[in-house]
Amino acid sequence: MTISRRELLLGAFGRSPTAPRVPGVARLDRERCLAWSDLDCRHCVDRCPRSGVAMILEDFKPVVVPEACDGCGDCERICVTVNIYPAIRVISKSEA
Ligand code: SF4
Ligand code: SF4
Repeated sequence: MTISRRELLLGAFGRSPTAPRVPGVARLDRERCLAWSDLDCRHCVDRCPRSGVAMILEDFKPVVVPEACDGCGDCERICVTVNIYPAIRVISKSEA
């Protein structure tokens, strides 16, 4: 089997378009979240493509709306830039 350059890069840096998708949902750990520790952070809310629907602010703190979250993972990817261990992670819906 020959692997194209594109497939090689996708394998290294992202999800293959043919990989099976497991339905996921974001789960927020408030104890690790900067905003829930009264620090100024809302990167996940700003980055969420469904901001205002899947991710809302309550008293300037992020809250995930599981029914509207599609598990894209953008919130986790941005959270890890401000936290060593992300305060928000996408888990499979079967774990939720
Ligand atoms: S990016 Fe992370 S630390 Fe910042 S508000 Fe979102 S979950 Fe909390
Ligand atoms: S997984 Fe995607 S849709 Fe769900 S809260 Fe995070 S950024 Fe928003």
